[in-house]
Amino acid sequence: MTSEIHCDSLWHGADIVTMRNGKYHLIKDGAIAVRDGKIVWIGEQPSMPALAAAETVKFDGGIITPGLIDCHTHLVFGDNRSGEFEQRLNGVSYAEIAAQGGGIISTVTATRDTEEAELLEQAFFRLRPLLAEGVTCVEIKSGYGLTPQSELKMLRVARQLGQLLPVEVKTTCLAAHAVPPEYAGRSDDYIEMVCNTLIPEAAAAGLADAVDAFCEHLAFSPSQVERVFVAAQKAGLPVKLHAEQLSALGGSSLAARYHALSADHLEYATEQDAIAMAAAGTVAVLLPGAYYLLRETQCPPIDWFRKHGVSMAIASDANPGTSPALSLRLMLNMACTLFRLTPEEALAGVTVHAAKALGLHESHGSLETGKVADFVHWPLARPAELAYWLGGQLPCTVIFRGEVRS
Ligand SMILES: [Zn+2]
Repeated sequence: MTSEIHCDSLWHGADIVTMRNGKYHLIKDGAIAVRDGKIVWIGEQPSMPALAAAETVKFDGGIITPGLIDCHTHLVFGDNRSGEFEQRLNGVSYAEIAAQGGGIISTVTATRDTEEAELLEQAFFRLRPLLAEGVTCVEIKSGYGLTPQSELKMLRVARQLGQLLPVEVKTTCLAAHAVPPEYAGRSDDYIEMVCNTLIPEAAAAGLADAVDAFCEHLAFSPSQVERVFVAAQKAGLPVKLHAEQLSALGGSSLAARYHALSADHLEYATEQDAIAMAAAGTVAVLLPGAYYLLRETQCPPIDWFRKHGVSMAIASDANPGTSPALSLRLMLNMACTLFRLTPEEALAGVTVHAAKALGLHESHGSLETGKVADFVHWPLARPAELAYWLGGQLPCTVIFRGEVRS
């Protein structure tokens, strides 16, 4: 008796970089069988069992990787800050720009003033280049509205992007991003509103998959962040944290205590933070675009993350102020060049570890039986090329939930 595996599609003719357990785990001359948008078989073609596929696609060499995942973006915002970028390079100081209502507050004002449809159109324009380079899953944060109405507007736009475009979108409520002008000098009152009103409303509307905060001298203290985490827990949402970007406040250890999915930035994280994150399974999300744009000199402690087994992800941090990055692949090169990650670690950072940073590690991020069939075919000789080429758009065929994405 022969038992054939029935599937919708079979993909072969290329080597498969599975990224299982964060390593290349290359399958030479591999094949992937897909049914109902999931991988039902993967392995070397010569050892493939009997398969009845409705459709077969044969590639002419090259490699297949998991779909890329950008696990930290602020893609939804009104206007952009290219005007300030130019002013600063013409010698105008940060203080003068801030006095003119510039900096993050200018983005808050523009985001509040922009209609939902217009915000959607602007974010659409920024998301397209990411998709063109193989991104199949993206996280999008709120954090420029800072009122219940405007934060929910941002989260709705993020959700709509996932409905309009063939991409998995995870949303994060980052209401604790900055103190809005109307709460100047009353940051505790703002945190109270975020905890008692904003987070419960976002959770009740089903608009947030996680809650994030910015733990820094110029934003919120660890004790304020802890109140946000408690509110998130009450709402049944996992947490993430912008931590140790400009100074060491112990935010990443705090995040670990709350079993955060990730702590992000981490230039000033200590070895104790790394130990706490490893024990909690909290992913270190590295953001080389912001490091580059701010011309930082303190690298995140990669060696401690390696030594203690902290999973490292890499993201674009796409935002109008400190990382107007529209390429995740460029971030791979920057993570290797600026932070000395290996190309294999970098690729794990935008696949399997990025999935973990979004709580999606059971279903996304690596090519294994039972996982979602999101993968990319690249006519490349080896996976290191993804981190090696400095920007530009490499040709690729993206398969999203088992179907070619045009
Ligand atoms: Zn960020």
